[in-house]
Amino acid sequence: MEGTERLRLAVQKTGRLSEKSLEIIAGCGISFGSDSRLLKEHARNFPLEFLFVRDDDIPAYVRDGVADIGIVGRNELDERCPDDLEIVRDLGFAQCRLSVAVPRDFPYGGLQWLAGKRIATSYPNILGRILEERGVTAKICYLSGSVEIAPAAGIADAICDLVSSGTTLLMNGLREVEPLYSSTAVMVSRQGFMSEASPRQVILERLLLRIDSVIRAKSYKYIMFNLPADHVTAVSKIAGGMKSPTVTPLLEEGWVSVQMVVAEDTFWDIFEKLRELGAQGILVTPIEKLTE
Ligand code: ATP
Ligand code: MG
Repeated sequence: MEGTERLRLAVQKTGRLSEKSLEIIAGCGISFGSDSRLLKEHARNFPLEFLFVRDDDIPAYVRDGVADIGIVGRNELDERCPDDLEIVRDLGFAQCRLSVAVPRDFPYGGLQWLAGKRIATSYPNILGRILEERGVTAKICYLSGSVEIAPAAGIADAICDLVSSGTTLLMNGLREVEPLYSSTAVMVSRQGFMSEASPRQVILERLLLRIDSVIRAKSYKYIMFNLPADHVTAVSKIAGGMKSPTVTPLLEEGWVSVQMVVAEDTFWDIFEKLRELGAQGILVTPIEKLTE
């Protein structure tokens, strides 16, 4: 059965999500062509079919069963059909926030300042929900793009748009005043797909096993260093959640070589402690895959 079935994955054709989405799939050892003019393509060594589409359409494609899964910003999911889809993995990339921004010189005094004002956004549903939760009634003006020009064009008093570095806002004379919502790229399926036990769901399980190992690998580093042998116990105490480090004696009396895996976010703390313990020649390498 499974031999004839392919899991259908919708990814953004061109844009901020495209490259990283395909990078994760390639990191899973899945190979495919790279003709960006194609709308549809299948992997050579895994039962996976790609649909290359606009990111706005991905939630609806997955909801309607045109695709089984999709990679999309959480923002698009929450804007379009949050109740019909299920997040199967947070992929962590394409971090951004939905923020309110006002013209640079405006005396912004908190969210209440927006009461009765006109706010331009491409995310009226998310913004509407958040304003309602916070008890602010404003006029939401929908714009499908180029939201940042709305205040200068006299269409709105403020905007609510996606921000990552903030450069676009600055270039348009705007100031970010209120981050309201954060987003990353997520993999979605329609509600219930994960518990269907269908051939395609089985393929998704296989894919997720690989994706988890790729994502886990990205948050760890492999480090190697030389250490005075009498400090081995101290090092094993700072090794964190992984199994104890690998210790090999060096030819030089009283020294050992140590290898261990450390979490990316603890790396610099561990690095400083290792230096204090007399570690030398600390070599750090990325990890391609890491299973539990
Ligand atoms: P498409 O033509 O596919 O509709 P698009 O122009 O709507 O593309 P992109 O600008 O490529 O979309 O953004 C895709 C996603 O990338 C966003 O929905 C969001 O989740 C994420 N993203 C990350 N940083 C930013 C940012 N600074 N501005 C906009 N989106 C961002
Ligand atoms: Mg789009």
